[in-house]
Amino acid sequence: MPERMLQFVRLDQQTPDKRDSAARRADFAEIYTEFQPAKAAAQASRCSQCGVPFCQVHCPLNNNIPDWLKLTAEGRLEEAYEVSAATNNFPEICGRICPQDRLCEGNCVIEKGFDSVTIGAVERYVTDTAFERGWVKPIKPVRERTESIGIIGAGPGGLAAAEELRRRGYQVVVYDRHDRVGGLLIYGIPNFKLDKAIVQRRQQLMEASGIVFRLETEIGRDISFADIRSRHAAVLVATGVYRARDVGGPGSGLPGIVPALDYLTAANRVGLGDRVAAFADGLLDANGKNVVVIGGGDTAMDCVRTAVRQGATSVKCLYRRDKANMPGSMREVANAEEEGVAFVWLAAPEAFIGETGADGTARVAAVRAVKMHLGLPDASGRQSVEPIEGGHFNVPADLVIKALGFDPEDMQAAFALPELGVSRWGTLKVGHSTFMTNIAGVFAAGDIVRGASLVVWAIRDGRDAAQQIHAYLQQTTATAVAAE
Ligand code: FAD
Ligand code: SF4
Ligand code: SF4
Repeated sequence: MPERMLQFVRLDQQTPDKRDSAARRADFAEIYTEFQPAKAAAQASRCSQCGVPFCQVHCPLNNNIPDWLKLTAEGRLEEAYEVSAATNNFPEICGRICPQDRLCEGNCVIEKGFDSVTIGAVERYVTDTAFERGWVKPIKPVRERTESIGIIGAGPGGLAAAEELRRRGYQVVVYDRHDRVGGLLIYGIPNFKLDKAIVQRRQQLMEASGIVFRLETEIGRDISFADIRSRHAAVLVATGVYRARDVGGPGSGLPGIVPALDYLTAANRVGLGDRVAAFADGLLDANGKNVVVIGGGDTAMDCVRTAVRQGATSVKCLYRRDKANMPGSMREVANAEEEGVAFVWLAAPEAFIGETGADGTARVAAVRAVKMHLGLPDASGRQSVEPIEGGHFNVPADLVIKALGFDPEDMQAAFALPELGVSRWGTLKVGHSTFMTNIAGVFAAGDIVRGASLVVWAIRDGRDAAQQIHAYLQQTTATAVAAE
């Protein structure tokens, strides 16, 4: 091992510089600046090159982290990029938006008190540098195959599968109901976490590789699933989960109470230069409003931080558990706090209070909430939450954003395929290692199989599903030849 590794004993952890919170509040630009080369190398050199690297074990892609850190520390960036790209289709995206505190970095074994290696920031730096220097090239398959694969959904799961299948020479067509490629990378996750240009340069690369995108095409509406199945040797369903969980109670139908994804999609579209009517007429614009976001996950964090940037008068996040029990990444919570978001822990909405405006229409004016306390852990090990009697209070709100999570749509109905196997949660059932549904030649990957999850897991599933589609087609071809 070169002497230049193991520097954690001398060198403190440093993340790339974070922009000042006042500057961050004023725009939608990414909040972390890029590592400078010397700093990236120095931070990579803090790695102790563990024999059993727990960082790698806890990365869903099992990325070869110690190797790319060592290569970065040695200034061998092109090789570092090759190693990183060998297991991850979009390392620069994961480097930006993986919850590293729960995955690779959270499991780095550098002793407590020294702080983990900043793995995500180095991963991002290596691939951004590779793009700048022209090392990232479109895929050129060694040989073309005639079989065509249809992929439904251009989110990270579908895109990772598309790349892996194209690499093997298949003719790949990706269908998406949206007008842009990227799924939640484009219309969910805000620009300040992931600049849209990062996603769009990947799209260009894929198009240059020969992957065909059919956008504004909803399967089940514009083209039937049966039609898609008949066009392709195999089909991958990577449609994500979009049915928003709702909050009930008196007044929950009042205007001014909106689902998180409607709000975030509008903000992302406006950022991309689109005209969005519901934003222009003020319904989905937080400017000048008292905003209350209900929920404690990453979607809620994206909503509160978007509202701050839109110029909200106040932004509060209402969450029924406490900070320690929040599902969202602690790093994102800290970012939100720095940007001026107020958290109301242990509080759940009970009702929504309306008022009639000058134009005679009713709108939400406040959330009536109740204080909660944490009870004993339930069967899942999570502490239950119970309302405190008499603990009611009102929070003024002109805009309420519901960010309570997502469930799958009814896929059997959407695809007019009643025989399609689904779990009791409505996710698609696939064979444990085959990724194939109960319908021959139809595979599934990403959130539609796991339920709402992470980008890095969607990439992993997309890669694994591609491998299984290839194995399936090889097998069916071999069987057909043997039968002749
Ligand atoms: P998606 O990204 O949802 O893509 C599915 C695609 O399928 C969409 O483009 C959709 O339009 C298309 N589609 C659906 N039905 C049809 C149809 N019938 N016909 C044609 N096209 C169809 N994860 C992280 O790791 N880090 C984060 O910071 C993070 N932040 C998030 C913030 C928000 C607001 C949300 C909602 C999620 C976030 N996630 C984050 C989760 C992550 O975005 C998802 O786990 C991931 O995008 C799932 O990928 P996917 O390919 O399975 O589905
Ligand atoms: Fe960490 Fe995510 Fe990169 Fe894996 S893909 S090394 S979990 S940032
Ligand atoms: Fe390096 Fe930490 Fe991974 Fe060990 S766990 S190989 S120190 S990054």
